[in-house]
Formats: sequence, structure tokens, C-alpha cells
Amino acid sequence: MPKILAMGAHPDDMELEAGGTLAKFIRKGYDVYLLILTSGGYTDMKGNTYFDEQLKNEALNASKILGVKEVIFFDYNTTELPSGGKIVSEVDSIVDSIKPDVFISHHPFDSHQDHKAAADIMFAVSRQGRVKNVLSGSTLPYRPNVFAFRPQFFVDITDTIDIKMDAIRAYETQYSKFGSEELIERVRAMSKTHGWAVGYEYAECFEVIRMDDSLWI
Ligand SMILES: [Zn+2]
Repeated sequence: MPKILAMGAHPDDMELEAGGTLAKFIRKGYDVYLLILTSGGYTDMKGNTYFDEQLKNEALNASKILGVKEVIFFDYNTTELPSGGKIVSEVDSIVDSIKPDVFISHHPFDSHQDHKAAADIMFAVSRQGRVKNVLSGSTLPYRPNVFAFRPQFFVDITDTIDIKMDAIRAYETQYSKFGSEELIERVRAMSKTHGWAVGYEYAECFEVIRMDDSLWI
């Protein structure tokens, strides 16, 4: 069965960008691994502090809802994620042990510095055909450079969008911070817009960095 590695700079990133797709892979019996590169805790612009343990617990709850096989936590500080050096070897080791068929992370032109770093790490680790399918998830529309994201791969998530939303709700601190059901409504609307492109009710979409035919033929 194919194996999928989703790598977020922060807890909750991959649920927002690819939660419906991950749930769909899991329903097909694929093994999905989630790697979270930073320890999660941070203080926001209003001075509210979110603690590592809180975010980690929320990540575990969300992963249970999606059906993720294993969550791997790295411990880099939020906003200080390096894009090179030993972190590349550390993610190399994860890829060597999991041997994923699909690697999903952020988009290189995302405006969050940690997201950009994660995209660079994914590209470095996927060198020389080590991972056949490499995908960048969509930047969220409130980021100023969302138009740099050019999706080519659309996934019908009509059957898994409710699982995605429950996984987002499991991040109780972030769900409240971003407006609770208003956040859910916005993410749902985004999926509906992406679905419109290809005639699905709801879709997630990805920019293809590399794709072979192994999952199709
Ligand atoms: Zn993030």
C-alpha cells in the first residue's frame, strides 16, 4: 500500500492544507505519517501565548480523527525553522525509514518564513528521485502571495470534508483564535471554490513539484 508523508512547519498546517486528502488516502488503506517540524508553542500578535504541550495534544487528537498512523514531532522553535543544515539530514532519516510514495508540505512562496523553510527542506530531501510524488499544499488566502500558488492537482474531498473540519476543530486553541465556526465556514468555502474548478462539490488542490504514474496506472 502507498505511504504518504505530510510535513507541516506547525501543528494544524497539514489539516488546513491537506486534511481532506489525507483522510481520503487513509480511507483507501494508505499509511499516512505526519511530521511536525516546530514544537508548536508561540505568542501571537495580541500577546496570547499557546504552549507546546497544548498544541501537541491537539495535534494528536486531530491525527486520531484523520486516522494518521504516526505523528512525529521535531522541536524547532516557531519562527526560527532553519531550511538547511542538520534538519535536512533529520528529515532524510525519516524519509529513509518511511519511504513515502507521496510527500506533501508547504508552498515555497508561502509568506510564512517557517512554511517556506519546510518547502525547501522537502525539495532538498526529495532529490534524486528519493520521493516520486512531491506536492505543495495551498497557501491560505489571507497570505499576500497566495497568487504565486498555481494548483494543477485537484483532489475530490466531498466525502472527507467533514472529517477535515473535525480535525481542524480538534485544535481548540487555534479554532477559537481564528473565529471558531467562521474559520470552518471560510475553509469550507475555499474547498467549494477549488471544487468548482473541476466539477467536484469540494476539493483540495496542490501544486505539483514532481509526479510519476505509480498511483494512477
Ligand atoms: Zn503554519
